[in-house]
Amino acid sequence: MNFPKTIRRAGLVIAPLALVAFLVGCRQEGTTVTPVVSKDGEETIHLSDTETATILWERGRPVALKKTNGERIPFQQREAALEKRIVLAMPDGSIEVHRRPDVVNEDLDGLHHLYLKEASLAEVITDGGKGEPYIDPSDGAFCWTARTCTNPDCPSQTMGQGDRPYLFINRLPGVKKLSADRVDFTGVPAAALEAPPKCPVCGNSEYVEVYELPDVGERRQQLAKELGTVRSARDRARE
Ligand SMILES: [Zn+2]
Repeated sequence: MNFPKTIRRAGLVIAPLALVAFLVGCRQEGTTVTPVVSKDGEETIHLSDTETATILWERGRPVALKKTNGERIPFQQREAALEKRIVLAMPDGSIEVHRRPDVVNEDLDGLHHLYLKEASLAEVITDGGKGEPYIDPSDGAFCWTARTCTNPDCPSQTMGQGDRPYLFINRLPGVKKLSADRVDFTGVPAAALEAPPKCPVCGNSEYVEVYELPDVGERRQQLAKELGTVRSARDRARE
């Protein structure tokens, strides 16, 4: 079969049906900067409000991080990796504690998406969807990503309901359900796969955006910022 790349890539999409507690906003993150105390011997630092650890310095180099349970974690490239955090010993002697990037990425992956059911357009909010369609585990219905049109001249601007803007879906024809969480795109016409989603009210595609739940959008920005902070701290530690 000579499908365009997009089809081959789409192929089979797995929509995991994980039911995970709503984590948005529940985690604490940030930086603890400890002033320079002594760069030879032991220095106690705060990993969080309640946890401390000890850094072992030898001649200005961080050697190991000792946890209160006695566990010893070596520093590599001025970094000691804990289960959820990294401790960075900066060249100026200061210490930074950050959440590990993989932990932050897990939070990003767990952010909730808004889908609309194919027939009823009922809202489905889940962290289980990693693409569309998402299959609602409660009734097996196809759910498609909620989209909105940001064209200032589009009549849909005044068609929102409650605190939602006007929402619509871009349903692909020919999608087949293979099992409770797997779908097959091979029956979707190439033109439908390649066409950008269009606003059903104004007909434009250039203003169509995936709708993000307000608290999720805010959280995504925070997490993206956190990732940037960790990356730059790592770079500075290695300078
Ligand atoms: Zn529009």
